[in-house]
Amino acid sequence: MRTIELTKRQAEIIRIVKEEGPITGEQIAERLNLTRATLRPDLAILTMAGLLEARPRVGYFYSGRSVPNPFTEKLMSIKVGDVHSLPKVVVDTATAYDAVVTMFTEDVGTLFVVTSEGRLEGVVSRKDLLKVAIGGSDLHKLPIGIVMTRMPNIITTTPEESVFKAAQKLIAHEVDALPVVKPMNEEDGTESWQVVGRLTKTNITRLFVELVQGGGDFHIPGKL
Ligand code: ADP
Repeated sequence: MRTIELTKRQAEIIRIVKEEGPITGEQIAERLNLTRATLRPDLAILTMAGLLEARPRVGYFYSGRSVPNPFTEKLMSIKVGDVHSLPKVVVDTATAYDAVVTMFTEDVGTLFVVTSEGRLEGVVSRKDLLKVAIGGSDLHKLPIGIVMTRMPNIITTTPEESVFKAAQKLIAHEVDALPVVKPMNEEDGTESWQVVGRLTKTNITRLFVELVQGGGDFHIPGKL
């Protein structure tokens, strides 16, 4: 991960050192038709940034260590728990019609389907409902269990996961929302999950705007 902005000359220096290192400052200057003195500040920056290493009597060689950038560091430290919204759910006894109504009244594009104890059973998206609607099914009679994508195929996140990791999941699985979950203690020892939130592309977009507007400062927005 390259995270500092290099000038054209600094990029040239890196290229030369990658190809020819170890190489002395004098030799780099020759390649660039510059004096050693002119190059000194660039070499100092590149060495301090950890991109080049300087060995006495040997010269410079490329180390290529990535340099932490404050914006990236800040982003990586923000957790799903800092930005997610409240979950919008329907119970597993609901019909497809109930889900359509809930989607409208709650103004969301994704609903989580839960048992009466709050255990995550499935996810239903706008298109899942449109599909059955155009298929001519009677939505009043259609159980939501037939429409939803069900466990264990649900991609989830946790409050402790980094927003960056969760954003990668949204992209990789081409979905709009992830249920934010916590493990639930089942008496029979089976693994199940309680839904505690909803992480959507909108949360990520809002965070992006906040970070840029705040110059990298992030104030935890109110959970919606
Ligand atoms: P839409 O289908 O309205 O464009 P999505 O892209 O979010 O919305 O959903 C695509 C499909 O993936 C749907 O069938 C939906 O049930 C399913 N889906 C949505 N979110 C998840 C998730 N977090 N995990 C697994 N499947 C999901």
